[in-house]
Amino acid sequence: MAPLRTSRRSVLIGGAAAVVSQTLLAARGKAGNHTEKSTSKTGGSSIGTKVQAVVIGSGFGGAIAAHRLGEKGIKTLVLERGRRWNTGPNQDTFCTNEKPDGRAGWLTDKAPIFNSAKIEKETGLIETLIEDGITVWASCGVGGGSLVYNTVLLQPTEKNFYQCYPSDVSYEEMDKVFYPRVIEMLGAGPIPDDVLNSKYYENARITQDLLNEAGVPSKRLNVGTNWHVVRKEINGALKPSAISGEIWYGANSGYKNSLDKNYLKYAEESGHVEIEEHANVTEIAENGSGYVVTYNKIDSKGTILSTERIETEKVFFGAGSMGTTSLLMRAKAKGTLPKLNSEVGQHWGNNGDTFAVYASGQPTNYKEGGPAHILGADYDDNPFGPQSMIAFPMWVSPKGSITFLGMSIPKQSGYWDFDAKADKAVLHWDGKSKAVKQMVDGMEHSCSKFERIRDQDPAKRSAVPDAMRKTKAGATATAHPCGGAVMGKACDLYGRIKGYKGLYVTDAAFIPLATAATNPALTIAAFAERSMEHIMQNDF
Ligand SMILES: Cc1cc2nc3c(=O)[nH]c(=O)nc-3n(C[C@H](O)[C@H](O)[C@H](O)COP(=O)(O)OP(=O)(O)OC[C@H]3O[C@@H](n4cnc5c(N)ncnc54)[C@H](O)[C@@H]3O)c2cc1C
Repeated sequence: MAPLRTSRRSVLIGGAAAVVSQTLLAARGKAGNHTEKSTSKTGGSSIGTKVQAVVIGSGFGGAIAAHRLGEKGIKTLVLERGRRWNTGPNQDTFCTNEKPDGRAGWLTDKAPIFNSAKIEKETGLIETLIEDGITVWASCGVGGGSLVYNTVLLQPTEKNFYQCYPSDVSYEEMDKVFYPRVIEMLGAGPIPDDVLNSKYYENARITQDLLNEAGVPSKRLNVGTNWHVVRKEINGALKPSAISGEIWYGANSGYKNSLDKNYLKYAEESGHVEIEEHANVTEIAENGSGYVVTYNKIDSKGTILSTERIETEKVFFGAGSMGTTSLLMRAKAKGTLPKLNSEVGQHWGNNGDTFAVYASGQPTNYKEGGPAHILGADYDDNPFGPQSMIAFPMWVSPKGSITFLGMSIPKQSGYWDFDAKADKAVLHWDGKSKAVKQMVDGMEHSCSKFERIRDQDPAKRSAVPDAMRKTKAGATATAHPCGGAVMGKACDLYGRIKGYKGLYVTDAAFIPLATAATNPALTIAAFAERSMEHIMQNDF
């Protein structure tokens, strides 16, 4: 088995290599300061022109690829369109829910989530993609989705797993090797008693009681949260962040064990991996037995400073379902990767996501107590299929509410095509189909179990406005896109893109439709670990 943590020796080597790397970066920066818009750097001999491997994107799939390449001494360049976000003692790295600014959204003048406040156009954290039939939120920055996520790392059950993935993938191996490996690397664990019992987590306790009374199986979630940091927030040593429900625009207290603190850190410490921020990849093309990757160096306003090209033997796609699928669809449409098969752009799903706001009929601290805590696992007693429910703080929800994210197993696929006139890949999803209605019905069915409990109490019943008596779910948006270049179709079962040697998908694009009624990060990461272990043993 590959070692999980970077050794002291590699840390020492990493220190020396970091100096080399900084020098190279400085040289690259100089080259990139040309006044002309496009500079081809192909053909040189420094790390700036040729590397053994390029990783596109630095979220879960990209970070794991980078770490596993680095520990085997493979000279690797990670190209990430977003910027680095380092938290510090001032606790002002990120903006807040209530006061969003340019740091919240990706090159947009509107705050991305549930609030259309005007903001500066900058290379912020969340991109809102309005596609045909669905809105998708995608993350941006060194660490990808780990910067903005609720830190939930939920493993699917074996039964649900095989409703989504081929029987050739061993659940037993995933369960024994790859899921626990990711949990260990991300330092994940459940909410401890002392935190759960603090005043900030009243919603978690109400949710736990509701699930118990409704007979819905539940458990404390594994979350990639540093609970010692949360304790410091509770005792006043740090300003509120998790406890005040700050999640989606970043964690100023540093409570998230985001990828920049583990996988990406270890990758850089290996001395073989360089991460370039503000490097937006636009094209991947065949080049003899290897590839040329073209990217724009941008500034924090998105202005293109230069266009760079890098030669490589291997490309690892880690740009997320939306980013990777867009790049592959473009390569297919423009003929730069003409052997991609017709499965590219297929088997896309919304992870069965729904949102619901439940009126509890009692006071709740609906804005507080993040990032997430308890799972409701309505898997065997819901006629619409397995349904997960997770409560999370939501600053725009009404008083006395609990906001739930629902996840299920979608029964329909979306697909992508390339709009030549608009010069972009477009996702198509039938947001009004019977299958989507069933997703909504499934979540509402689970919520109705809570309503029955609530309505037995006359005081709670009368406190709920008529319009909120029946919980309504919605499925118009997702933060959990999956698919586009999936296992066994566009790729083999280890992420090798069919038709090519040296092209791999390690991110959510590899996952068909959904992660079996769970939040996707853990399953994406576990599959990335599985693929990388196999690729490092067989392809290098
Ligand atoms: C607000 C929010 C909350 C979430 N909460 C949870 C949760 O609690 N639990 C969970 O399991 N999941 C959660 N998710 C989903 C989770 O973040 C994603 O499923 C996961 O991050 C996907 O991993 P990935 O490796 O596919 O890519 P990502 O983590 O999405 O990373 C892709 C990276 O590639 C970069 N990129 C894209 N295109 C390019 C390009 N052309 N050139 C260079 N770089 C590029 C992006 O900037 C990004 O950094 C949440 C998502 C959001 C948006």
